[in-house]
Amino acid sequence: MIRRFFTYYRPHRRLFIIDFSCAVIVAALELAFPLAVQHFIDTLLPSGNWNAIVGVSIGLLLLYIVSTLLQFIVNYWGHKLGINIETDMRQELFQHVQRQSFRFFDNTKTGHIMSRITNDLFDLGELAHHGPEDLFIAVMTFVGAFWIMLTINVKLALTAMIIAPFLVWLISYANKKMNAAWKNMYSDIADVNARVEDSVAGVRVVQSFTNEEFEIERFTKNNRKFRLAKLAAYKVMSFSSSGMYMSTRMMVLIVLVYGAWLNFTGNLSHGEMVGFVLYVNVLFKPIDKISAILELYPKGMAGFKRFTELMDQQLDVVDKHDAIEVPHLRGDISFRDVTFSYDEHKPVLEGIDLDIHHGETVAFVGPSGAGKTTICSLIPRFYDVSGGGIYIDGIDIRDITKKSLRSQIGIVQQDVFLFTGTLRENIAYGSLGASQEEIKDAAKRAHLEDFIASLPDGYETQIGERGLKLSGGQKQRIAIARMFLKNPPILILDEATSALDTETERIIQEALSELAKDRTTLVIAHRLATIRNADRIVVVTEDGIAEEGSHEELIEQDGIFANLYKVQYETSLSN
Ligand code: ADP
Ligand code: MG
Repeated sequence: MIRRFFTYYRPHRRLFIIDFSCAVIVAALELAFPLAVQHFIDTLLPSGNWNAIVGVSIGLLLLYIVSTLLQFIVNYWGHKLGINIETDMRQELFQHVQRQSFRFFDNTKTGHIMSRITNDLFDLGELAHHGPEDLFIAVMTFVGAFWIMLTINVKLALTAMIIAPFLVWLISYANKKMNAAWKNMYSDIADVNARVEDSVAGVRVVQSFTNEEFEIERFTKNNRKFRLAKLAAYKVMSFSSSGMYMSTRMMVLIVLVYGAWLNFTGNLSHGEMVGFVLYVNVLFKPIDKISAILELYPKGMAGFKRFTELMDQQLDVVDKHDAIEVPHLRGDISFRDVTFSYDEHKPVLEGIDLDIHHGETVAFVGPSGAGKTTICSLIPRFYDVSGGGIYIDGIDIRDITKKSLRSQIGIVQQDVFLFTGTLRENIAYGSLGASQEEIKDAAKRAHLEDFIASLPDGYETQIGERGLKLSGGQKQRIAIARMFLKNPPILILDEATSALDTETERIIQEALSELAKDRTTLVIAHRLATIRNADRIVVVTEDGIAEEGSHEELIEQDGIFANLYKVQYETSLSN
């Protein structure tokens, strides 16, 4: 774990070396200053040589200035190092999450991902900076100060150290407790995030059921749990820092009393006594530092552990190493004995065989939950089949790079996701390099032109959270405009118009028909009247493909489809 942590220093090793060396020099100077004071009292003071005192003082002044400059470097560049490492990790994690498959997102809460990418890494940056540097300096100062104390007076130094075993126990005890406490705290704050994300995303549902109180209660529970976890951590921390305070003060007391005795008996000069007390103070610094690291280390490492857990999450839909680029697919799709399940014990699709020819429009109908969406999401490899295979133009889709496969499949769904940004940016999402002309053309073909012309800011209108709110039909047309830009040979329309009223649907249908021209099109439709003109209709039920044929053929067959159609037709008449 630690070794892996250190690999993140590699790109910043120059910064690390500069920071570390400056810190070592600062620590060495800190060690030397009390010796100067001791020398000052014991030799310079009795000599009465004013010039020497001025000379030594100027020397000290210069050293203080150097030390101050170095401390600035250590502080600023050290933090820079920490921030760089934190930023690198965040970047790496985001990239890793972007590459995850749908299956990962099915099983992971957004709030948990957010937590790991944001606050879990905050303390890591601090640890990256302070951890190795402070630990090294603490050890160096401690050993140095103790060694000098030994040279001043062995007996006094050893006596002062009777506190040491207690300190060692305290440090290891606090470390163990704190590890557990921070780990709990991180997972509890992730739960708080997940709750917030749920209740904000679902606020319409919450309020329509007037379940605000219920949500508040659930949140309170998570929030309290977080409070307890954090409190537990600070309890251990307070205990250990009080313990450290107590032991260091005891040390001073021992030095004062025993030192005074040695001074009376002529075994310790005044200067040595002062020097000694100053060194005890130098000794405290590493102890303080170590107690700060004791707080930082488990905190940062708990964050790092959560970071690695997510980084180690295997990608499950990946390119084969010899996957091929296929820049121009014709769009012949075949399913061969395809089996698929989201989780092992419950197969969703079994033995699906299906051939779709390029340019053909095939409609999928059937009860909800039958697997229509699932069939369509296997084509762009949002999930990989569990058995059998899917072929486009005769090539197994697992042999094609995901990028070239997906760039040639367009999907329009019922929910259109719009990004925060302008209308133009949202349309251009279909093809990031699109020119203004191309965007305008796409908008025109998606029947968006008049709407955009009616807006004061036109294409530059902000949409999303702090901008214009769009109706379902308008969003749908943006999705269609994206498709005109993307211009894929294969098109999937998954209930694209199901949420719209009949009038809006009629307008959008025109745009969709134009979009479907010269493309292999798979349409999942709820309203059967909209797919009358499909080349073929496939009826999907829980048992697989039940019927297949043109509208007329299926009506003639008088099976499932004919029945569904009759029911819908009659309802539409009675309306
Ligand atoms: P349809 O589009 O025909 O309404 P779906 O393809 O969405 O049906 O769903 C088929 C079955 O797979 C349903 O039983 C549904 O509960 C299940 N299912 C759909 N999506 C997921 C998913 N992401 N994880 C687990 N099960 C799913
Ligand atoms: Mg569906």
